[in-house]
Amino acid sequence: MTATLVLIKPDGVRRSLVGEIIRRCEAKGYKVADLKLVEPNREILAKHYAEHEGKPFYEPLMEFMLSGPIVAIRLEGERVIEGFRSLAGATDPTLAAPGTIRGDLSRDWGTKVIQNLVHGSDSEESAARELAIWF
Ligand code: UDP
Ligand code: MG
Repeated sequence: MTATLVLIKPDGVRRSLVGEIIRRCEAKGYKVADLKLVEPNREILAKHYAEHEGKPFYEPLMEFMLSGPIVAIRLEGERVIEGFRSLAGATDPTLAAPGTIRGDLSRDWGTKVIQNLVHGSDSEESAARELAIWF
């Protein structure tokens, strides 16, 4: 069964959007196969975001992801990796299409890091690597 890692970032939990985000995944037809609320440490986040180390937004991103609990979900379904990326929308919430999670529910808050509610794995390799980190 194809699976992807979805993270509901601290802004999603703070804004009480956990139910709405899961609702969209389930309404699409994907299955929540595993789920947990986590307060991640720096070590796990450094592994998860290894590809972004050294980029200008890396430190703000780490601080943001450490700012409160997040929800980690193993989401399953045929082509769910690309399907969830499509549900999530573009990284920049100002440009994310209406109808997507980021386009409908997030915006630019003028912060150094883009607060865009969710993470979704971007390939089969990333999904396998990231699911092993969080589950
Ligand atoms: N990010 C940011 N500024 C950027 C690019 C990314 O603040 O210019 C943040 C944003 O929260 C994004 C995360 O870093 O979701 C990971 O970036 P990536 O390019 O992997 O975007 P995603 O896969 O989440 O759409
Ligand atoms: Mg990414």
